[in-house]
Amino acid sequence: MADQANPFETLQEQVDDAAAHLDAPPGVLTRLKNPERLLETNLTFELDDGTLETVRAYRSQFNGDRGPYKGGIRYHPGVTRDEVKALSGWMAYKCAVVDVPYGGGKGGIAVDPGEYSESELERLTRALATELRPIIGEDRDIPAPDVNTGQREMNWIKDTYETLENTTAPGVITGKALDSGGSEGRVEATGRSTALAARETFDWLGRDLAGATVAVQGYGNAGSVAAALIDDLGGDVVAASDSSGGIHDPDGFDPRAVKDHKSETGAVDGYGDAASITNEELLTLDVDLLVPAALENAIDGDLAADVEADVIAEAANGPLTPEADDALADRDVTVVPDIFANAGGVTVSYFEWVQNRQRFSWTEERVNEELERVITDAFDGIIDAYESRDVRDLRTAAYVVAIERIVNAYEQAGSWP
Ligand code: GLU
Repeated sequence: MADQANPFETLQEQVDDAAAHLDAPPGVLTRLKNPERLLETNLTFELDDGTLETVRAYRSQFNGDRGPYKGGIRYHPGVTRDEVKALSGWMAYKCAVVDVPYGGGKGGIAVDPGEYSESELERLTRALATELRPIIGEDRDIPAPDVNTGQREMNWIKDTYETLENTTAPGVITGKALDSGGSEGRVEATGRSTALAARETFDWLGRDLAGATVAVQGYGNAGSVAAALIDDLGGDVVAASDSSGGIHDPDGFDPRAVKDHKSETGAVDGYGDAASITNEELLTLDVDLLVPAALENAIDGDLAADVEADVIAEAANGPLTPEADDALADRDVTVVPDIFANAGGVTVSYFEWVQNRQRFSWTEERVNEELERVITDAFDGIIDAYESRDVRDLRTAAYVVAIERIVNAYEQAGSWP
C-alpha cells in the first residue's frame, strides 16, 4: 500500500533535484519552492434540510512570474493545505514546461461530494466562488476542473463571478460546458496528452506503442480517455482500475466499453469476463506501459521494487513518491512525468481562455492539432535537456526546462522595489 509522503515535500525535492543542474541564486530557488499566496477559508452553506454546514477550502497561488495563476479545484476528503500547495507548484512547472503563459495555482475543498445532493453542491460551489472572487479574474487567477469537479461546477463558478462583478468574463474559469463558453476537446485533453506523451516516449525509446500492453490505474476523466486514445494508437489495454478495484484480461478489452460499464454500474469491476484484481496487483502487472491516473502517492518506494512496467506515463499529479522515482531510475524504468504527460488539460484550458478573450471558437480539429504541436515541442525540449544536461531522468529534465523559463521571466522583470 502506498505510503503517506507529503506531496509538498515531494515537490520541493523535485525542484531541488533539478536546481542542482542549474545556477539559480538561492533567494530565487526559495521562491521556486513556496507559494506566493495561500487562501484558507471556511465555506458555510445550507443543506437541503435547512441546517448549515461548514467545510474547509483552499486556494494556493504558487507563482505568477509567467502569467496569471492557473489550475484546477478539487473536491475530495483528502484535500489538505500541503496537498493544495504541492498541486499549485506542479501547475507552475507544468505551464512552464509546455510554455503556456501562465503561473501555477490550485484549489480544493475537503469534502466528499458523493455525500451531497446537486443543490447542496451548487450552494457549496457558489460559496467557494464568492470567497475566491477577490483573488481570481481573467488576468489574475483562472481556476479549472480537477478531481471530482467538471463542467457543472465551472459553470456555477462563472455565473457567480459574473453576477457579483456585474460583467461577462467567461475567461475567469476554464473547463466550462460548450454552451457556456467551453472549448472543443477540453474534456479529452488530459488523456489525449498522456496518450501523445506515451507515443513520443515509445518512439524515442525505439519501441512501438502499437501492440504494447497497457494498464491504467484510475478510470475518471484522465484515465478513461487516455486508455481509449492509447487503444486508438494501437496499444493493447489489458487492465484498468478505479477506487473500488480493478480488472485484468491478458487478451485486452475495449476501453470505451469499460467506461460505459463504469457509467452504468459505478465501477470497472464486473466488466465482461475480465478477472478482478486489486489496485496494487494492477500497478505491478508485467505490462509495457503503466498509466497511473488517480491520486498522489499511488507508487511508493516499496511498491516500485515490484513494478514490472517498462514505461510509466503519469496522467495523475504526483503519483510517484521520490523514493519510487529513485527505485525506478535505478532499474531503468522510463517515467514520463506528470508535469508533461498530463499537461494537455491546462494547454486546452489555455486555448479555451484564448477563445473566450477573442470571442471566437475553434474547431475540435484545430484544438487537437495545436495540442499535438505543443506536446511534441515540449517533448523535444525535455529530451534536449535530458541529453545535454546529463540529468538522471525525464522528470528532472522537465523541471530543468520549466525552472529556467520561470527564472528567466523573473530575472527579466528585474527586481522592484
Ligand atoms: N486540473 C488540471 C491539472 O491538474 C487542469 C488545470 C487547468 O486546466 O487549469 O492539470
